[in-house]
Amino acid sequence: MSRRKDRERFQRIKEQNPDYTGFRGADTVVEESAPPPVLESIVCSVCQRRRNVPVDTLPEDRAEYVCLRCQDGLYQWRGFATAVPGAPFVDTLLAALKEASGLTPWLIIFTYYLVEGLTVLAERYLRSRYAKGRVDERQQWIAWNQRREEAMREGREFTEPPPASDGDKAK
Ligand SMILES: [Zn+2]
Repeated sequence: MSRRKDRERFQRIKEQNPDYTGFRGADTVVEESAPPPVLESIVCSVCQRRRNVPVDTLPEDRAEYVCLRCQDGLYQWRGFATAVPGAPFVDTLLAALKEASGLTPWLIIFTYYLVEGLTVLAERYLRSRYAKGRVDERQQWIAWNQRREEAMREGREFTEPPPASDGDKAK
């Protein structure tokens, strides 16, 4: 902090508290602040990444340690899973999670990515498929109708089945 800012700060505090005698030096602050946390290097039981974690936040059984990033993922997953109405597979997965109340890490990660990732992807895929299907179908109908009108103009017999029944045949 600059000297000018120090002076301004002193004046500001002095106005509120006439007894204020000034900042007592950097040493005082170091003594008053909490000591830096003792870190321990530990492997997350979910993602297997090594993290440096304050010792006082670690579980007694170090093998149960789940890093903040994975905890966040689990938290998001839970929020997502409970926010989807009428999704029976989510209920099934939640039930499975409760069954494995030891919070089997791979199951959490698997279901997290399954629900969070795959359903979003699947939804997008289906939506794009649906949209594409609609466009294709419409174009098929337009083309069919053009051929039909052409045949009528030329006085030909038009026997081509419409696109929908064509699609049925393909199945
Ligand atoms: Zn992790």
